[in-house]
Amino acid sequence: MKIFQKVPQGYTSRQGKYTTTQGVPLFNHKALISMLSATSEAAMSLPIKRRSSPTEELEGEKERSKMKLRSFMKPGKEQQEVVVLGRPDSEISVRMDSNVLDCIICFEPLKPPIFQCEVGHVVCSVCLSKIGERCHMCCKTTRYRRCFALEQFIDAIKVQCSNAKYGCNEFIAYYQKEKHEQECIHVPCFCPENGCSFEGSTRSLLDHLVTMHEWSPTNIKYNKALRISMARDRRFTLFVGEDLSMFLLGNILTDIGNALTMVCIGPHDSELSYSSKISVVDRVACEKGRFVFQMDPLVESSSLSGGIKLGKFFLLVPPELVDGSTGELTINVRIDKVNP
Ligand SMILES: [Zn+2]
Ligand SMILES: [Zn+2]
Ligand SMILES: [Zn+2]
Ligand SMILES: [Zn+2]
Repeated sequence: MKIFQKVPQGYTSRQGKYTTTQGVPLFNHKALISMLSATSEAAMSLPIKRRSSPTEELEGEKERSKMKLRSFMKPGKEQQEVVVLGRPDSEISVRMDSNVLDCIICFEPLKPPIFQCEVGHVVCSVCLSKIGERCHMCCKTTRYRRCFALEQFIDAIKVQCSNAKYGCNEFIAYYQKEKHEQECIHVPCFCPENGCSFEGSTRSLLDHLVTMHEWSPTNIKYNKALRISMARDRRFTLFVGEDLSMFLLGNILTDIGNALTMVCIGPHDSELSYSSKISVVDRVACEKGRFVFQMDPLVESSSLSGGIKLGKFFLLVPPELVDGSTGELTINVRIDKVNP
């Protein structure tokens, strides 16, 4: 496969390559050819100007380039479904080895600006700033140029968000996929109950906990203390704030007492921040002032993917504070919105 780009007048084609009038190869799209070779046949209908009878020389270069690319491929990555966007009637779906979308030096996804050596080996701008004028594939000094055709190609490739099955309909440029998924609102949360494999959006998790596990969430007003009684061995207590944010009070039994910890249920740190105060009082002897207290200045968000864990802040409640007659703890909970 050979691909040509439009060149200004005054350039001539010689032996199947466009060359400048000084005889310097202008562009042979080596990386783009490797990319197209890594796609399925569907990619061959890309609306890119091309000619169909490759020269042996270019085929040889293509094979050498592919071999070098393979030797630099990041292990463990799989073929991706991608959509090459264009007009609605020219949009196509292809399967592509995602390694060809990565810089062969740093393995990060290629993103504009992309540069190529005189032979056509491409590098990202970050790597270019480190390697200077030496191409590590050619192993010699070279002059780098912007590779606009490849940039256009990279920008036209859109991949589906990994959270599509949880309701995300976004198609994003491959090099923006990781950033999008870090912020995607459809990242699932997980059910903390033992042996339950439910995963879904924060809202569907609430429905699941109520319907499947018969949890009874407690509504909580911010900036106001709420007193609850909780069985000593109850592992979870769910609070729902005025803005429908969900907070889970986890209770982990240890040899030296109960460890209480609060998390905000959500896949990412929310734009809203909360602090929490938890105190456990001796209900029988509360006049005598026996209690333990813990403040968390910034409640952590958690998707509960690994269940509930003790974070930096937790309250250790000694067994003496358990009401001997009921087996319950008397807990004061207060959640405050923190001004950003
Ligand atoms: Zn790089
Ligand atoms: Zn090179
Ligand atoms: Zn998404
Ligand atoms: Zn569940």
